[in-house]
Amino acid sequence: MMKCPYCDNEMEEGALRSRVVPEWVKKGEKKGQLLNCEKHFSYNALVAYRCDKCKKIILND
Ligand SMILES: [Zn+2]
Repeated sequence: MMKCPYCDNEMEEGALRSRVVPEWVKKGEKKGQLLNCEKHFSYNALVAYRCDKCKKIILND
């Protein structure tokens, strides 16, 4: 269980999926780093917690 750090609401567990492996790129830099994805059917997926109130998503790298 994950609590929202903004409003303390219980967050929904799910996955953020992509056909390609997403990259995190630091502001001002050109080179990014690939995120640590799991396979979810034919998608790459990051574990993601979502707060319905705040519309925030917290990702596990
Ligand atoms: Zn929240």
